[in-house]
Parts: sequence; C-alpha cells; structure tokens
Amino acid sequence: MRRETVTPASEAQREAWRSGGFPEVERVRPGVWSIPVPIPINPLRYVLVYALELPGGVAIVDAGWDTDEAYGALVAGLGVAGYEITDVRAVLVTHMHPDHYGLAGRVREASGAWIGLHPADARLLAGRYDESMVGDLVRRERGLLARSGVPEPSLDELAGASMMIRRFVSMAKPDRLIEDGERLDLPGWDLRAVWTPGHSPGHLCFAEPERRLLFSGDHVLPRITPIVAVHPQSGPNPLADYLEALAAVGRLDVEEVLPAHEYRFLELAGRVGDVIAHHHERLAEIEAVVGAADGISCWETATRLTWSRPWESIPSYMRRGANNETLAHLVWLEVAGRLRRVAGEPDLWFPA
Ligand SMILES: [Zn+2]
Ligand SMILES: [Zn+2]
Repeated sequence: MRRETVTPASEAQREAWRSGGFPEVERVRPGVWSIPVPIPINPLRYVLVYALELPGGVAIVDAGWDTDEAYGALVAGLGVAGYEITDVRAVLVTHMHPDHYGLAGRVREASGAWIGLHPADARLLAGRYDESMVGDLVRRERGLLARSGVPEPSLDELAGASMMIRRFVSMAKPDRLIEDGERLDLPGWDLRAVWTPGHSPGHLCFAEPERRLLFSGDHVLPRITPIVAVHPQSGPNPLADYLEALAAVGRLDVEEVLPAHEYRFLELAGRVGDVIAHHHERLAEIEAVVGAADGISCWETATRLTWSRPWESIPSYMRRGANNETLAHLVWLEVAGRLRRVAGEPDLWFPA
C-alpha cells in the first residue's frame, strides 16, 4: 500500500524518484553524502549509500549490489565527494539483503575497510548464499509454502523463486558484529546502532543524536513499506518485532531520515504512525477474510486481499512474498488471540 504523507528533505531527490530518474550525488549536510547506486532489474532502481567523512577517509552506510555497474557508480559518487574507493575505512551494513550487502566484500578488497553487520544477519548469511546450504533453505521454504496451501503444481517454482538473485551477492563475512545500542568507533561521529528486526532479523538503523539524523536502511521509507514476512530465516513473529522496533525509532529525536531507497525525508514520528496504522488496517482486513470463511489457508487468504494489482497478474515470485507477508499478519493475529490455527496440510485459520 502506497502513501505519500511525508515531507521530503530534498525536492531534487524526490523529483528524481517520481520521474523515474536517478538522483544526483548530494551533500546532505557537511560531512554526509548521499550516493545512489543502481540495482539491476528492480523497481526500486537504486540504493542510497551514505558516505560519512572521517579524518582521512569515509565510512559508508550500505554498499549496493555486487555488479560492475553498481561498483562504478559507487566509485564515481565517492569521487564527487572528493574521495577514492581506497579511502573507505568502514562499511556499516543495515542488513544482509543483496542491494545493501552485495558490494561490501568488493569494497573491502579495494580499501581494507572493515565490514560491520548485526549478528542475527551475520548468522544467516551462510544459509542464504552458500551453495552447499541453499538446498536446505529451499526445502524449508517448500514446506512452509505447502503448509500455507500453495497448490502442488506451483510449489517448486515458488520455493526456488529468489535463487536467481544469489549470483549478485559475494559471500563476504563481516569483520565486526554490531550489537544493539553499540556506539560505533568513528572519529567525529556519535553514531549508535539501533537494532530494528522485522524486515530482516538483524536489521540495524544508525542514529546520530548530535546531528539528529537517522540512517534508516529499509526499516522506514518515505513512500513504501518494507516486506515483513515469515520465511525459513525469519523470527517466529516478525511483524511483532517490526512494529515494536518501529515504535521505538519513532520515539527518537530525529530531524532528518536518510533511508536506503526513494528519498530522504523529515517528520519521522508521523511516518512511523502511518506505517503502524497501515499494518493494523491490513490486520483488520485479514481478520475479516478469515472471519468470512469456514477455515481458510494462508494462500487462499492472500488471494482474497487487496494488492497493488489483481492477484492474477502478480508474477509467481512475488506471490510467494505476498503469501509470506500474509502469514506474518496471520501469526501476529494468532499470538494476539484474535485467530487460531488448526495445523495440517495446509494449516487452516479460524476466528479465535
Ligand atoms: Zn531489504
Ligand atoms: Zn533494500
């Protein structure tokens, strides 16, 4: 569901997003640069990498996809800011998704920078991107989809749906694990890690209380809401984690939000309130669909919800996300005592 209720912090950046273009490298404020790095074959088009000036170098927040084009854009963007790739001292990655983590290894190779990631995402890297362990991940995804009620002929296709993107990600191991509340050791910066699980189990935002900035990764974006889904690598109730972490960042004293996609914006608390309200509307919609049926699977529930396009025209790799997102809401309602699940093949959902 898309809204546009936020105040953009950069009209130029918002305009570039709206027109389908590519924003400029921008100096957000003294010492902070925003560098768009292209994402191949993806409607998000680019990830915004932030460069933070240090004495004698930069730290970057997120890295981009592991493609030559992305690497070239990062190098060129750093050049506009007056730096070379060899000046990168640290790569702080908000989460393990390939548009954020993919290039981290290559940047480290070129510069000797350290890579930091939250331990909950570091733990999952091997299972997600290692050839030898990926078969197990696909098997567990297939089981989850079968219990959701995905029809047998579609199971294999949907279970393997995201495997094609793995080739964009090199399996770099992080050098440092960044814990919740940790103060990063970056001269001239009072940068704190804020653990914000939900979109991924180890998602981090970085807050700078002195400059009143929040580097929000995918946790809070100006226009879209990140996918929060149950899958083999998620926590048991990712939507509860997400909503709790969202409310927590909404209480921070922040002037400007620097997200990883779309454009930077002001008025964090208002945006947080909208996203929380959006999920509660979705929860109510799902509760109503289950209430109108006499035992319904997750998959069948998903087909009856409103999506940005008719269910029939949603491609299969996105239907899996839709199913798993629906499941995250069903689980939240189950834990809240509003629905109950009768386990089986598939699991069926009833009003509590
Ligand atoms: Zn992500
Ligand atoms: Zn992302």
